[in-house]
Amino acid sequence: MGDPVEHSLSPVIHNAAIAHLALDYVYIPLPVKSADLAQALEGLRAIGLVGFSVTIPHKQTILPFLTEVKEVAQLVGAANTIWRTEKGWVGTNTDVEGFIAPLKKQTRNWETVTPVILGNGGAARAVVVGCQQLGCKELHVVGRDLQKLQNFNQSWHNLKTKIHLHPWSELSQLLPTTELLVNTTPIGMYPHTEATPVEADLLKKLPSNAIAYDLIYTPKPTQFLKLAAKQGIQTQDGLEMLVIQGAAALQLWLNQPAPVEVMSQALLEYLS
Ligand code: NAP
Repeated sequence: MGDPVEHSLSPVIHNAAIAHLALDYVYIPLPVKSADLAQALEGLRAIGLVGFSVTIPHKQTILPFLTEVKEVAQLVGAANTIWRTEKGWVGTNTDVEGFIAPLKKQTRNWETVTPVILGNGGAARAVVVGCQQLGCKELHVVGRDLQKLQNFNQSWHNLKTKIHLHPWSELSQLLPTTELLVNTTPIGMYPHTEATPVEADLLKKLPSNAIAYDLIYTPKPTQFLKLAAKQGIQTQDGLEMLVIQGAAALQLWLNQPAPVEVMSQALLEYLS
């Protein structure tokens, strides 16, 4: 459910999984305007919908309509997965699980890692909570609008990880200190595929054991990840995050494990 929602890749991954599991369900885009949210929820309850994903602009505004908001969604301040219970709608946030999935495979002492996050929008919120779940004690957030950065910093309740705010002009000093650099801005996303949030000369400042993580999944790889790989830096694109957040949602709706590999293959085929 979103507005706009027509471009979403989620039907590709979920319907591939549903077909693989031979289940009689379908995952469809539900275009809903902000003003119609309450009415849409009433209608979906009435027709017995199992559950749905939420995207812009409803991720935050849906919270007051939920009977229960899981702790991780409370912390992020947004839900992306909703399911129906006898008592009402329950919401959680699986973006956090999706973001940390590839990082959890690393053997690193995350308590000693101070990530640098580029951007302070919706996705950055899930990244901050993900870094906390990994065990990071503090992190840096780099933004272009001081007021938005400050609002971002003040919007947290019960966050244990300490956030330090920076303008982009300070990025060059931060890079030598971090093992994890995450791009949460849309810089470099299709069709602007030549753009990069960090130029090659700056990427040279990263320690050799650093990971460059781009939440963007089209193109695959982005210019940012191409430049990082040229420096010998380990890279991670946003595809696994997209698949894992979807698989986690499907598991909640169906109450059975999701076929992650099938979902990933369906997405790769679609994108190629
Ligand atoms: P958003 O809420 O609009 O936030 C975007 C952030 O990037 C904002 O902080 C914005 O700054 C900043 N930004 C945008 N253009 C910039 C520029 N030219 N220079 C510097 N900063 C810039 O968007 P979002 O929902 O967080 O999504 C961000 C990206 O993450 C998108 O590319 C999206 O596809 C990707 N994403 C991927 C996944 C996944 O599963 N892999 C999940 C979620 C999002 P201001 O605040 O100053 O405007």
